[in-house]
Amino acid sequence: MIIRHVTTRAIATKSKLPDADFVINPYTGCTHGCVYCYAEFMCRFTGHAGEKWGTFMDVKEGGRMPGPRVLKGKTILIGSVTDPYNHLEKKYQKTRSILTRLEELDAQVEILTKSPLVLRDMDILGRLKNLRVGLSFSTMDADLARLIEPRAASPGDRLETLKQLNAAGIAAYAFVSPLFPLLSDYRKIAEAVEKYAAYICFENLNLRGSYKKAVLELIKKNYPEQYHDFAAVYQSKDEFNTYWRKKEKEIRAYMKGKCYRIYFFHSDIKKR
Ligand code: SF4
Repeated sequence: MIIRHVTTRAIATKSKLPDADFVINPYTGCTHGCVYCYAEFMCRFTGHAGEKWGTFMDVKEGGRMPGPRVLKGKTILIGSVTDPYNHLEKKYQKTRSILTRLEELDAQVEILTKSPLVLRDMDILGRLKNLRVGLSFSTMDADLARLIEPRAASPGDRLETLKQLNAAGIAAYAFVSPLFPLLSDYRKIAEAVEKYAAYICFENLNLRGSYKKAVLELIKKNYPEQYHDFAAVYQSKDEFNTYWRKKEKEIRAYMKGKCYRIYFFHSDIKKR
């Protein structure tokens, strides 16, 4: 992996995501190597055209933070196209340093990660006035997780992280994403996390980028019996809609009375 240090002008950028007004990505690139990573489009916008996503990391240095008046009452998501607690964070502590800059601001901070390294920053997390920490889960099956998220922490370690955050009184939630058709058991994930998560978000697997081929090949090789039905979901927009509408209904029935949110169809989601 090629590691570069780059000076950035603005560390927070405005976001069109439904639940975030600003996003902060302390790094460009990610070390987790998820096969479904949607963030490869970032190569085009960050001077990495021609490089393969996952083979480089930019460590962002500096970067202006919007002022308190701009951020007052706004939601800031860390991060949207990297895991803020990727392997480099242990050494470079860019996420930690950003969190210290956010301590005095009256903004809602939301951290999304797959890593127990977030626990290192418990001191700062405890001081942030409005904070939510999300742990991502695609599956509770360690073998499947190793295949699709080869360098990320195991589902068991993520669950333990969620547990420790919750025990420390930090608002923690589970981001069940991406759900793989036929392979991700949302019930098992929900059962495992519900004691420790203030709420659960569900998102499905989209295969829009060039990673579609890699995902389908991986499923074909490792789950030949499920491959046909899995691939069928991504054959056409209609197949996709039919499968995920049905799944959405199922999840809504299962989660009735519980606190959850579903992000399957972006056209359904309104900005908060
Ligand atoms: S953790 Fe997120 S950004 Fe990192 S490789 Fe996985 S999907 Fe991509």
